[in-house]
Amino acid sequence: MSKKYRVGILGATGTVGQRFIQLLEGHPQFELTALAASDRSQGKPYREACAWRLPGEMPLAVHALEVQPPEPPLDCELVFSSLPGGVARESEEAFARAGYAVISNSSAFRMDEDVPLLIPEVNHEHLALLDAQRQARGFEKGLIVTNPNCSTIMLALALAPLHARFGVEAVVATTMQALSGAGYPGVASLDITDNVLPFIEGEEEKVETETLKILGRVAGARVEPATFAVSAQCNRVNVTDGHMAAVRVRLAQGADLEEVRAAFSSYTSLPQELKLHSAPARPVVVRDEPDRPQPRLDRDAGRGMSVMVGRVARDRVLDYRFVALSHNTVRGAAGAAILNAELLIATGRL
Ligand code: NAP
Repeated sequence: MSKKYRVGILGATGTVGQRFIQLLEGHPQFELTALAASDRSQGKPYREACAWRLPGEMPLAVHALEVQPPEPPLDCELVFSSLPGGVARESEEAFARAGYAVISNSSAFRMDEDVPLLIPEVNHEHLALLDAQRQARGFEKGLIVTNPNCSTIMLALALAPLHARFGVEAVVATTMQALSGAGYPGVASLDITDNVLPFIEGEEEKVETETLKILGRVAGARVEPATFAVSAQCNRVNVTDGHMAAVRVRLAQGADLEEVRAAFSSYTSLPQELKLHSAPARPVVVRDEPDRPQPRLDRDAGRGMSVMVGRVARDRVLDYRFVALSHNTVRGAAGAAILNAELLIATGRL
């Protein structure tokens, strides 16, 4: 049997932390051996520290694990981080310096030049930055790899096949983002019931800048960002899980509708070739019904790891438009980080 890596979760009691625990249950390559959260939870067994809010029972294996502070040493060799941005930077850097592989969800390091902002299907070659990272930061064994913001993952994964085939010249995206994206307890019910909130702090900037880094090319020790314009407007809507975006694109090369549709649905990449455990068979799934995708019906496609694309049509202002949907705590967070770790193992980086 192949080696099982001992893993810890920072922010283990939160929305994303719980999703990590759920997705890691029975994972063939990872064994959960350490959990960390804030001083509110530290010193307690996980079953007491955590109010489990996912469907199904809290996995038995974590009931008795004592919640630790998010600082080294922890009894593991790799940490998945779902700490809030404000505390992530110091904690994650300390783990990497102490020799741990840090696979992070938080925004703290995403835009640092020497840190891969990774979607394994889209930019696995950005892992080359890890050599520069090790040198620049003096990490001996440790490393930091991040995954993008939850809306950005969906947008970049949907744009990648179009950018590869036709070149993307401009993108306008309007998101409709689920409540679980704000963590727990998130948005007050009286603010979101019968309502849409047209503001999510920092979100539009993240979508606009992260997308260009992800679709950029490695040039020496950094990524040369893609140069097309991205305009994002982000809204919070009254949906529990599943972010959606209405997207319009201008393409560099002419393409007919069937070619655009085929570019989406035929898209596969290294994670599919390597048959990584969490990789969906189809990263982008096209729905042709006029009223799909919908969050409640489509967020679990590909065990939550596929981006669903529908309403693909010619656009009168830009060239094409479509609606994208993905599960924000699976492909947009915990599942994304786990796939990143699987890629690191498969490419010999761990
Ligand atoms: P959350 O539900 O609020 O959970 C936050 C977690 O961090 C909890 O485990 C909490 O522990 C811990 N924590 C809070 N303050 C801390 C401190 N000062 N020191 C140590 N631990 C602390 O948030 P979330 O939605 O899971 O988000 C976590 C991170 O993932 C954020 O950086 C977020 O931006 C990112 N992210 C979230 C999503 C999503 O869809 N939710 C998607 C992508 C990325 P206690 O329970 O002990 O307070």
